[in-house]
Amino acid sequence: MEFEASMEALEGAAAVLVHDSLTHLSDDEVVEFIRQLETTVRTLGAVSDRLIVEAMERSIPGRLGYNSPNKLLVDIIRVSATDASARVGRAREVGTWHTMDGQPAPPALPETAAARADGAIGNDHVRAVSKTLRKVPRVVSPSDIADAEKILADCARHGTPEDVEQAGHRLLAYLDPDGSLTDERDRARRRGLHVSRQDTDLMSKISGELDPTTRALLDPVLEKWARPGMNNPSDPDSPTGDSEDSGIDRDRLAAAAARDTRTTGQRNHDALTAMLRTVLSSGSLGSHRGLPATAIITMTLAQLEKSAGGVVTTASGGLVPIPEALKLAEQSHPILALFDHDGRPLHLGRRRRLASSDQRLALIASDAGCTRPGCSAPPTRCAVHHVRSWQRGGNTDIDNLTLACDACHALVNDSENGWATVKSRRRTGWVSPRHIDPTRRPRINRRHHPRELIREAASDSDVP
Ligand SMILES: [Zn+2]
Repeated sequence: MEFEASMEALEGAAAVLVHDSLTHLSDDEVVEFIRQLETTVRTLGAVSDRLIVEAMERSIPGRLGYNSPNKLLVDIIRVSATDASARVGRAREVGTWHTMDGQPAPPALPETAAARADGAIGNDHVRAVSKTLRKVPRVVSPSDIADAEKILADCARHGTPEDVEQAGHRLLAYLDPDGSLTDERDRARRRGLHVSRQDTDLMSKISGELDPTTRALLDPVLEKWARPGMNNPSDPDSPTGDSEDSGIDRDRLAAAAARDTRTTGQRNHDALTAMLRTVLSSGSLGSHRGLPATAIITMTLAQLEKSAGGVVTTASGGLVPIPEALKLAEQSHPILALFDHDGRPLHLGRRRRLASSDQRLALIASDAGCTRPGCSAPPTRCAVHHVRSWQRGGNTDIDNLTLACDACHALVNDSENGWATVKSRRRTGWVSPRHIDPTRRPRINRRHHPRELIREAASDSDVP
């Protein structure tokens, strides 16, 4: 009972603190309260870890129909997916879990957990400790790893997260002076390739680490495809494909190479573009969810008519400026689906497709992604969902179909914790279970329709 009473007291105290006058405080007191409040907030972070552990140990996410605790957090406290994943990660690393017979087990990072509970370190400190420890080679003994955690936690208590990272570098160098302890498992754990969201200039950052095999495969490809003169998009006379290909005119390549002013990085980039074009047009990727695996671009007549500006969306959620999209459609084999002013299909590309593929394309154009409120899954990750279920007599008509990603699709069911879908004029309304919204008002996902979001905010009404 003490927990409930304390939560109530905490809420009451916060309500006072947020409004109470600060003018009578001395300068020293202001500084001291900044420090004191931070300590409390950090300790409360450990309380949040406890609640997340409790929810997971009771399997609450699963019982409410979520396949991960992260998604439950996104729904109930409206944090970003990144934030939710960080919270769950912290709960796993510094939370106290219980054995089958209910006994508390020591946290994975015990010293870090203790410092967090004391309010001495914040979220960024925890992240810095765990980031360093993840890089410790697997062959280092458990007692050395425990010592390292203690050193880092101690460093976190007295320094900034940057200090912890610096100490971590030195510690790693000490534990593995010549990098010789890195074994295959460490490399396998570190491998990765990340493509970031498109920024406001429509560019995407890539980062990651290649394992030795991938590097060995990449080098000879770049050697040929990224060779000066090859695959240069700004030179119409530049040969495309592989520089050793017998069909390539040596003199033409030499002339193109002489004109080539690209940096190595730019040539590598263009080689990747050319390789992707080749793979996509080879047809070897087959189909994906009933449509050929290729770039799918949907565009309305209105967009085409003012093609000087503006961007179109690809089925995987990317944005392409219209002139580039048209050029892409000429050179490779994407599906360019064109819709008239009312969103009716006019031109559905060059490939023959079944009627259901056309319906899917129409949904890609109209829904533009998963329709459940808050979900940002692009069409390539969505299934076609019957708004009124097939079992209840819902037809496979375009008016009764909508896009839902697999995770969201799985949430729709008749149970108390299930979601329901309804048509709301042009859009699909989702009715959430009572634990999310007790009023059970249908809500619409505007995330793929930013223009409607802005219009809605302006008119302050959610009727489409
Ligand atoms: Zn979804």
